[in-house]
Amino acid sequence: MKIGLMGGGFDPLHVGHLGAAQDAADQLGLDRVIMLPAAETPRKPGAALTAGDRRLAMLKLATADHPLLEVSDFELTQGGVSFTINTVRHFRDHYPQDELFWIIGADQVESLDHWRSIDELALLTEFIYLARPGHHIKAPPATPGLTLHRCQGRCLDISSTKLRENLRQNEPVNEFIPPEVIVYIGQWKLYQ
Ligand code: ATP
Ligand code: MG
Repeated sequence: MKIGLMGGGFDPLHVGHLGAAQDAADQLGLDRVIMLPAAETPRKPGAALTAGDRRLAMLKLATADHPLLEVSDFELTQGGVSFTINTVRHFRDHYPQDELFWIIGADQVESLDHWRSIDELALLTEFIYLARPGHHIKAPPATPGLTLHRCQGRCLDISSTKLRENLRQNEPVNEFIPPEVIVYIGQWKLYQ
C-alpha cells in the first residue's frame, strides 16, 4: 500500500490542500492520504493557530465523503511543536510494510534540508511536492538519499493566510473553502 501523509496548519483548510492531496494520489498512485493538522508548526512555533479541535473538525467535514482522504489527530494529541520526523517515525512503526510519501507544497521544498533529522526522514519517507503559484524552486534539496517527486497538479493560487483575511473582511470565500466548512466557520465565529 502507498500512503500519503500531509501536515500543516490547515487554518483553515482550503481546496488547495484537497487538490494537492488528490493530485499527489492520482499521479503517484497513492491508496490513501492522511491529513495531519499540526499542534504547532515548526515554521511558526507559538503562532496563534485556531484551536486544534476546530481545525480537525474542518478537515473531517471536508473529507467525510472522500474515499481517499483521511484525517489523523496524531500531531494534535502529541502536542508541542509538530516535527515531521516524530510523525513519520510513528507511521513507519505503525505501517512497517507500506510505502510512505510526505506531501508538501512548493513553498516548503527549499527549506527541506533544514527540517529536523532530515537524514533519517529521507530514509523513512519519500517526498512529493506540488507546484504552487509564486514558488519557484531555485535550489533543490541536497540531502543525500532524499527522494523528491514533482507533481504538477492544479497549482491553485490559494493560501490560508489570504482566506483568513478574506473572512475577516467578509469577502466571499465559497470558491476556495468547501460549503460545509464555511457553515462550520460561521457557526463557531472563526476568523472574525
Ligand atoms: P498559511 O498561509 O497559513 O501558511 P497554507 O495555505 O500555506 O496556510 P498550510 O496549512 O501552511 O496552508 O499548508 C499545509 C501544506 O499544504 C503545506 O505543505 C503547503 O505547502 C501545502 N499547500 C497549501 N496550499 C497549497 C496550494 N494552494 N497548492 C499546493 N500545496 C499547498
Ligand atoms: Mg503555509
